Amino acid sequence: MAMPSWVPGQETKPAPMPLLLVQSFVNTWDGDHDSDLLLDPAAARGWLTAAGLWHADRAPDPAELDLARRVRESIRATLAANGGGPPPASGDLQALQAAAQASRPALQVGPGGQVSLQAEPTAPLEAGLVTLLLVIRDAQRDGTWRRLKACGNPDCRWAFYDRSHSRAGAWCDMATCGNRIKNRRLRQRQR
Ligand SMILES: [Zn+2]
Repeated sequence: MAMPSWVPGQETKPAPMPLLLVQSFVNTWDGDHDSDLLLDPAAARGWLTAAGLWHADRAPDPAELDLARRVRESIRATLAANGGGPPPASGDLQALQAAAQASRPALQVGPGGQVSLQAEPTAPLEAGLVTLLLVIRDAQRDGTWRRLKACGNPDCRWAFYDRSHSRAGAWCDMATCGNRIKNRRLRQRQR
């Protein structure tokens, strides 16, 4: 299956849709290449629009981008816990909690009677963040959330989807990150 254009990098462990949206949002920061798709307003507008998280007729301003990046790191902190890391500290969750508090989700009833919850467009970025929060909520209910993890390599922290039966995966890629960390620990022990 071809990945959507907004999936950053060569994604070898993609989450199912729509959780792929949260994974990709977290992976807009790429530690390996030190690149950040949410830094430059024009680039950020392009990415957020392609991902369906931005509908305004302008680029996000620096304060909105700052908020988006802080929410991203909030989500990453919870994904690190999913990967076997420590639970998020209260400060880690502040940006995500603020986004939830500012949100105005609205219930809607579709033509077939399906009840859904959607982001009511308040501020443009908030609507996109509520969309992500609703995807997270659904994934937490259906159990897929625990499989979305941040890589255990502190220099990497790439979000990956653990499809293994044991759900014990800790690295975005065993050959690169897993062995890198193991070798580092080995060297530390030898010193
Ligand atoms: Zn990694």
